[in-house]
Amino acid sequence: MDPSPQSKPPPSDLLRLDDVRKSYAVGPVATEVLRDVRLRVDRGDLLSIMGPSGCGKSTLMNLLGLLDRPNSGSYLLDGVEVTTLDDDERSTLRNRRIGFVFQSFQLLPRLTAAENVGLPLVYRGLPEREIRRRVDDGLERLGMAAFAERKPSELSGGQQQRVAIARALIGGPAVLLADEPTGALDQETSGEIMRLLIQLNVDEGLTIVIVTHDPQVDQQCRRRTRIREGVLREDTGAGLVP
Ligand code: ADP
Repeated sequence: MDPSPQSKPPPSDLLRLDDVRKSYAVGPVATEVLRDVRLRVDRGDLLSIMGPSGCGKSTLMNLLGLLDRPNSGSYLLDGVEVTTLDDDERSTLRNRRIGFVFQSFQLLPRLTAAENVGLPLVYRGLPEREIRRRVDDGLERLGMAAFAERKPSELSGGQQQRVAIARALIGGPAVLLADEPTGALDQETSGEIMRLLIQLNVDEGLTIVIVTHDPQVDQQCRRRTRIREGVLREDTGAGLVP
């Protein structure tokens, strides 16, 4: 008899891409943006994806974050093939398993920090009191408890990014996808946000994927990958491997 699903050990790769291709049709011409991408992200990884502008970083992040689908290839998220799920299943999975952080923070300007952080749980339909309790914990965890009632315009860039990270983590995601998380910050604040992300990774085992073109950010990640013209390679320090 087959073992019950509960007794199945979880797959060791949290994210696993195989032979992923993505192209865009511009007029009659198809432009290949990702070519046969193979990527394994383990639980607890802190991984950077670095490459020049236009090489396919955002496209790859959109695929990892279930915002877009590849033309071909496989994407297993925690052992589940996600390329064949329908849009509703994908958005439920995105809400529950993926946390996003962006260069431009993407906070809603009319909402307070607390309301911004609670938004993913509002979409989940959680009771207001439960949301408030989790938001308070989330802001505390990011050192932002004193700023709960501030609007984004009343916060510094670094503080806005902390709020955005709290929002990304509020639903307990499996992975945090950070697209140029320090790109809009000065060097000191950038260092602060990186220390925070490293702390979340080391202390709490949070799996983090960071897209960056900043070598300083890249150097602080335990695993480093390079993408060039849609081809992804891992940088072991001793050279690039497919
Ligand atoms: P990066 O994030 O590394 O700057 P992108 O993933 O945004 O790169 O883009 C990679 C390439 O794909 C670029 O040449 C870009 O013009 C092209 N591209 C991205 N999105 C689209 C789209 N929706 N339609 C057509 N081309 C696109």
